[in-house]
Amino acid sequence: MKLGFIGTGNMGNPMAANLIKAGHQLTVHDLRREAATNLLEMGADWADSPREAVPGSEVVFTSLPVPRDVEAVVLGENGILGGASSGQVFFDLSTNSPTMVRRLSEECAARGVTLLDSPVSGGTYGAAEGTLAVMVGGDKTVFEKYKSLLDGIGTHVVYCGAIGNGSVCKICNNLMSMGTGVLLAEALTLGVKAGVGLGTLADVINNSTGGSKRLADKFPRFLFQGNFEPGFATALAAKDVRLATDLGREYGIPMELSNLVDQKHVEALFRGWGLEDSDAVAKIQEEKSGVQLRLHD
Ligand code: NAD
Repeated sequence: MKLGFIGTGNMGNPMAANLIKAGHQLTVHDLRREAATNLLEMGADWADSPREAVPGSEVVFTSLPVPRDVEAVVLGENGILGGASSGQVFFDLSTNSPTMVRRLSEECAARGVTLLDSPVSGGTYGAAEGTLAVMVGGDKTVFEKYKSLLDGIGTHVVYCGAIGNGSVCKICNNLMSMGTGVLLAEALTLGVKAGVGLGTLADVINNSTGGSKRLADKFPRFLFQGNFEPGFATALAAKDVRLATDLGREYGIPMELSNLVDQKHVEALFRGWGLEDSDAVAKIQEEKSGVQLRLHD
């Protein structure tokens, strides 16, 4: 199938590569052409703007940093909607605001284009392995027609309901992941200071009721190695927590702890760690406690 793909960064690049490996013909665009070098070597075509990636593409994917980037790439002067014709389908793989994605879907529908939100979870390693969770909101018939495409990038593709519901699921998930990260940093620095080795602590918690993917998968690849190369940038993690607290305000849901987690991410940004991996937030607790959470073996 002919596909367009806009945004070939840390997540978009490996997802696009998996679609090429699955036999699809991609036309790709990114603000930074060098972000697509490997994809062009694999046979993808280059488009000079988002709009140019659309004609001839049955489906167009976007994987972009923040809601305003998605808005610009869909509705902007050289955006994908400008180049679209009736019957085309857009999947937004970004972690986006449900309110924004619902508005964009209305703009698309007015032009006969179907937009589905399909954010992903599982990190850059899950994107490379094709084992992402994909949570989809939008027209169910269109979802079913193109589910096999999503199966090329993830192993847990879930239909979540109406447009925006994929984003709601993703935001709730990431709030849990970021909140868990903050609390884990406190629990682990406490345990180490009180005399237990980090490896033992992590093993016990992972096999007990406090276990989480954050501790089992993410910390061992990043924080425990002192590796803060993203991965998943702190700026994007901060964006996701803020999307959750904003959604809480929009729907009148009290979220005291979530707003503390939000402020922890604001502090990490203030310290200049926005481009570091999101595990960098734990460095705040490391500093305050005088305990470094590193495993070397
Ligand atoms: P990234 O910054 O590595 O990649 C985004 C890419 O979009 C960049 O290459 C950038 O140049 C490009 N871009 C930005 N604005 C553009 C525009 N107007 N036109 C064309 N290209 C543009 O970010 P990422 O880590 O790949 O994340 C992408 C999305 O996926 C985000 O919404 C993020 O929250 C979400 N996400 C990330 C991870 C992760 O582990 N990194 C995991 C799940 C979800």
